[in-house]
Amino acid sequence: MKRLLYKRRVMVVEDEYINRQILGNILASEYEVVYASNGQEAWDILQKEADDISLILLDLLMPVMDGFELIQKLQADPERKRIPVIVMTSEKEAEVKSIRLGAADFIAKPYDMPEVILARCERIIRMSEDASLIDSTEKDAITGLYTRDYFFEYIRQIENHRMEPTDALVFNIDHFHLVNEMYGRSAGDETLLRVAQTLKDVLGDHAVISCRTEADTFYVYCEHIDDYAPFVAELQEQLGGESDSSKIRLRAGIYQNADPEADAEARFDRAKIACDRIRGDYSTPVAYYNKDLHQKSIYHERLIKDIDAAIAHEDFKVFFQPKYDISGDTPKLRSAEALIRWMHPELGMISPGDFIPLFESNGLIQKVDNYVWKKAAAQIREWKEKFGFSVAVSVNVSRVDIFDPKLLEKLRGILDENRLNEDELMLEITESAYADNANTLTEVTENLRASGFKIEMDDFGSGYSSLNMITTIPIDVLKLDMKFIRNMEKDPKSMKLVELIIDIAKFLDVPVVAEGVETKSQLDTLKQMGCEIIQGYYFSKPVPAEEFEKFIVQEIARKGEETC
Ligand code: C2E
Ligand code: CA
Ligand code: CA
Repeated sequence: MKRLLYKRRVMVVEDEYINRQILGNILASEYEVVYASNGQEAWDILQKEADDISLILLDLLMPVMDGFELIQKLQADPERKRIPVIVMTSEKEAEVKSIRLGAADFIAKPYDMPEVILARCERIIRMSEDASLIDSTEKDAITGLYTRDYFFEYIRQIENHRMEPTDALVFNIDHFHLVNEMYGRSAGDETLLRVAQTLKDVLGDHAVISCRTEADTFYVYCEHIDDYAPFVAELQEQLGGESDSSKIRLRAGIYQNADPEADAEARFDRAKIACDRIRGDYSTPVAYYNKDLHQKSIYHERLIKDIDAAIAHEDFKVFFQPKYDISGDTPKLRSAEALIRWMHPELGMISPGDFIPLFESNGLIQKVDNYVWKKAAAQIREWKEKFGFSVAVSVNVSRVDIFDPKLLEKLRGILDENRLNEDELMLEITESAYADNANTLTEVTENLRASGFKIEMDDFGSGYSSLNMITTIPIDVLKLDMKFIRNMEKDPKSMKLVELIIDIAKFLDVPVVAEGVETKSQLDTLKQMGCEIIQGYYFSKPVPAEEFEKFIVQEIARKGEETC
């Protein structure tokens, strides 16, 4: 931080005109000076702009309200108590008394050398500013940037003094965890340092202060710039190393002319919302917080606020989509996937695409998942009673659930309550969860499998995992990502990949589910390749439980014919 980037405001409270002038002249080189000619006048000014004053230089003997009284009033006021007071006096006794009352220091009259006065002022201001930060560490050990607490505290202090337009900038490194995983922690630390330095180099004096918040997220409080594109291009240029391995991609979220009324953290939250929006999209590494995003974040806040009521009123509905075994001549109903819908009483039906990623990002997804698991289990039980037929149902398990130490206990409880076996409630875990935290995930899935649960790896091929993942992670079913199916017929490479994955899975004796199958020709192609299980609009969209019953009835009839 440029410590004296802005001038602090100092208040001189002194009834004699000539003394005010002398002090004013000395202080004006370093500070903005505000004058009051007695305690009452000073108090009136402080009612309006207490935040703004870094120090009070106080004469003791004045008409209307003297210095002692003002100190006492300040001490009794929680907001103004923090403003340090230097008392100016020629009497030793008064000095002692004022220090007892709470003054920070004194300056003897007649006035000392100007340097001495300035040095005292500076020391006292610094002490009082630092006192509010004493509890936290100032600098991040890896990058030398400020830590989050200091960053926001300094912004608060800066903004007490100046209010030029500023922008909130948030930078995030794409797939930073991969740098750590592939090259080790120290390479990760080097990367962070390099990013911090490059940010400094490129943004130069525009950047007022910067900090590193979470692992790979950087905040920059920046003087307003109209167009960031050239800066971000330059950043990328400097960070793109010779070899691929050292290439770092940054995403930037920017909240321009940030609303100075909103508190600083809220402004950076908005920049972060913009930044999160571009996850994985390299073509436009900069996003601005704009009206649309503002609307969206208000909408998101609404959804977050409504989640508990939605669970209590059962506004979440669980739909079921059948999975068919196509290995024989006629398709057999094999199982179903439980997929949630939100029937909001005021907003209408909300698609999972609108709320699942949101709840995944803040952990609320656990509530939703738990709800779905319970409903799905109760449904399996109900169908068992009604049709004497067990339909296994897969439920989605999110990343956060995996880290819940009570996961197994919760699932067991649900099964017990509904008198079900472990293999009746199957668990879909998305592939990207594996890529993010391979070790924990492998451990958790091993435990679940040891307890009898069946694990399906969802969206396989969508992310960063490699083919050898399926050989190292213990799973029971592999679900091909929908995009392969969508591209298969147009793109020979996708076709080849699907074939290859099915072959490897066969070799490992793991059945493959093709998801998103919409047409007969897709189904035929997959069947030819040896894929046995199909889920998709070709058979049915996800439907409410009552509607799903027709598939059960059909299946019972089909079985009856089979045995005839
Ligand atoms: P997913 O788990 O990959 O679910 C498959 C999605 O593909 C579902 O979308 C399904 O309706 C859709 N789909 C199925 N067949 C076809 C097809 O032939 N063509 C097309 N175009 N789409 C098809 P949905 O229900 O909108 O769910 C989207 C995602 O939301 C799911 O993707 C899943 O990741 C998530 N989700 C849904 N319910 C839950 C839940 O209860 N918990 C969690 N954690 N996530 C859920
Ligand atoms: Ca799924
Ligand atoms: Ca899927």
